[in-house]
Amino acid sequence: MDRGLEAAVLVTGGAGYIGAHTAKALHERGLTPVIYDSLSSGYREAVRWGHFVQGDIRDGRALADTIQAHGVTAAIHFAGLIEVGRSVARPDLFWEHNVAGTVTLLSALSEHGVGRLVFSSSAAVYGQGGRGPLETIPEDAVKAPASPYGDTKLACERMIEAQCAAYGLTAVALRYFNAAGADPSGLIGEAHEPETHLIPLAIAAALGEGPPLTVFGTDFDTPDGSCLRDYIHVNDLAAAHVAALEADLPQGAFEAVNVGTGYGASVLQVVGAVGRAVGRPVPYTIGARRTGDPASLVADVARAGSLLDWTPKSSSLDRIVADALRWERCPCYGSGRRSAGKQHGAEAAV
Ligand code: UDP
Repeated sequence: MDRGLEAAVLVTGGAGYIGAHTAKALHERGLTPVIYDSLSSGYREAVRWGHFVQGDIRDGRALADTIQAHGVTAAIHFAGLIEVGRSVARPDLFWEHNVAGTVTLLSALSEHGVGRLVFSSSAAVYGQGGRGPLETIPEDAVKAPASPYGDTKLACERMIEAQCAAYGLTAVALRYFNAAGADPSGLIGEAHEPETHLIPLAIAAALGEGPPLTVFGTDFDTPDGSCLRDYIHVNDLAAAHVAALEADLPQGAFEAVNVGTGYGASVLQVVGAVGRAVGRPVPYTIGARRTGDPASLVADVARAGSLLDWTPKSSSLDRIVADALRWERCPCYGSGRRSAGKQHGAEAAV
């Protein structure tokens, strides 16, 4: 993209977890994030860099006004619903927010000549994963989403690819593996409501601020029987978005790129790392498998290196857990999220 000190980048869902860290990375790169978020699950306190506009991803008029008012030249699209379990119960909502919302955004971008897009996709497009339980997953692996959430991410990728061919948009879809950790500043971090992710739940259990962790199955075909996942520090993920925005791609190109480390950590290894960091073991019980959980999801990251010139720098498990723990001990927002029954509205911003 044409990068000048004033270049304005629309960040839909920029008040959410990955969006806020990406806004900080854009700012540090000399770009101006224009954060567009409904705040139905994002946090106003997470918006510390650039401009803020409160709006819904399905509101084409408000998107167009924002693009025009701020002279937006590129976009990063995070806004959407993210809870896999909820997508099974309410697929209609997920197609409306994630797919129809992306249609609305794409129309606004083409209408106003915004030629560059980075899309927040997911390893969920692969469904049960790679060719074998311990193999890394390349981008050309079979796409067989195991949930309506994954279906919507794949549908968006295909729509964006077609839009690139038809209108000359240049786009990169980043397929995230397991985003984790927090910015070391302590200013922004993970605050999902309800929280379902392993690392914050394990930390809460170890700190005595949440119930004992349930490990979802130790009978998988993995070295210690628990699931393997590829945990990527949220700041490395944020850096991948900046790299994707600036990648030297021909006009009209569409690329899908995995973002992970290439290494898997098991649930029990995470439990051990959290116990070491807190200085107290994580209390846990072993429960049944969670429906739809593949044994192993680990990225093949060769393409991220060659296409984006990007490699993770902060994603050792100990570093991720240390940064997550700093945040969980003193979150700037969302601290009520572990209180019983507290739930927020429908729209999430990743
Ligand atoms: N997990 C677990 N207990 C929990 C939450 C998660 O054992 O309370 C496991 C889950 O089965 C998966 C891994 O931790 O193998 C990461 O799950 P998370 O929900 O954080 O991310 P996902 O892989 O589902 O995107």
